Amino acid sequence: MSEESNPFDIAQGQLKKVIKILNLDKSVYDCLGNPHLELTVNFPVKMDDGTVRIFRGYRVEYNNSRGPYKGGIRYHPDVTMDEVRALAAWMTWKTAVVGLPFGGAKGGVVCNPKELSKNELERLTRRFTAELSIIIGPEKDIPAPDMYTNPQTMAWIMDTYSMNKGYSVLGVVTGKPLELGGSLGRFEATGRGCMLCAREALKKLNYKVIPPEIWQKNGYKGMEDESCKDQGTGFRIDGATVALQGFGNVGAIAAKLLQQKGAKIIAVSDSRSGIAKKDGLNIFEVIEHKTKTGYVKDFEGTDEITPEAILEFDCDILIPAALENQITKNNAEEIKARIIVEGANGPTTPEADSILFDKEVMVIPDILANSGGVIVSYFEWVQSLQSFFWSERDVNCKLRDRILSAFHEVYQTSKDYGVDMRTGAYILAVNKVTEAIKIRGIFP
Ligand code: GLU
Repeated sequence: MSEESNPFDIAQGQLKKVIKILNLDKSVYDCLGNPHLELTVNFPVKMDDGTVRIFRGYRVEYNNSRGPYKGGIRYHPDVTMDEVRALAAWMTWKTAVVGLPFGGAKGGVVCNPKELSKNELERLTRRFTAELSIIIGPEKDIPAPDMYTNPQTMAWIMDTYSMNKGYSVLGVVTGKPLELGGSLGRFEATGRGCMLCAREALKKLNYKVIPPEIWQKNGYKGMEDESCKDQGTGFRIDGATVALQGFGNVGAIAAKLLQQKGAKIIAVSDSRSGIAKKDGLNIFEVIEHKTKTGYVKDFEGTDEITPEAILEFDCDILIPAALENQITKNNAEEIKARIIVEGANGPTTPEADSILFDKEVMVIPDILANSGGVIVSYFEWVQSLQSFFWSERDVNCKLRDRILSAFHEVYQTSKDYGVDMRTGAYILAVNKVTEAIKIRGIFP
């Protein structure tokens, strides 16, 4: 892996840059530049045909100065330790920038979940949980879903952990099914956060954004989400055009919610291919098509394009919601979007960041743009610990308040320092973590 695309080198470079801007001591980098704990396990899983396969799994606990370690677990054939390290560092900055009382962690298992049966996935998950059980816990380290893991995976983790304890421990994971103490609004939270950031960015750029009192008075009959009207999320963004790379939990939901707010989704892609339609796709139908066929490809009345071409599409808002390192120095110059909302973690390389900054493209960084997931994970954790559950309206209102206030803080910080929003977000996050370390002091 080259220096430029190694996610952990990128994460460390981003930190170094901010430490320099803030004029912090080298000891701060020594403290924040590496994870606290790393676990690698090679563990056996019985396959359906009776054979035994060894899988490799990782969990990296990066920093817990501000609270328990928090972060997802991904299942993917390309997972590496350096990727998990970077993702754990980003979780540390993400929880700090949106003010959650958590640190950062991440986990992964090297596997192709598409080639495993449900029973094999269950045995893999339960065995991996047993391997992790010495380090996870509701006050210690709280996993959640990430790429190719979902509420069912979290249910198996919660059950396995609980079996060993002898009682049900709801707070050990978030992103659980509703039946098991999951939170209303958690499944859609990351996409909802992306939508809120995209709309706030449009407002900042003086795009025509229609407040609820105007469009409601005029009897607008768009595809508005009824449940949002009284949550103050009723602003419409009629006509804003959106292209999305990645049509999983984050991308598809962000597309749906943006469409409900009046945006026109003109191109989307999944891991195989992309589709485009100048007059706008009906996202509900695309979701139905993908559920039926497994892919967005061949959706009627669309032109086929590659996932890479999506990035260079002529649109107002681009949402990379797939993998790391998608926007690089090789294609940043070709980007036409005015706003980039990073639904994925780490989709833009540092070289691309500086090209986009010069082009005055507003990049809402991953640690802010996709923080909706972990924000509602925090709400779920609080509800699980109290066994007292909130309405969806409450969850969505609290999510909106928290992500928008972080958005404005990051925006203002970037203006104050004359830097891009990623650097602004890092300035806020690094300051918060450094302060916590300072106040706590060094043990012993
Ligand atoms: N995997 C998600 C992320 O990258 C959610 C993490 C969580 O809820 O802990 O932010």
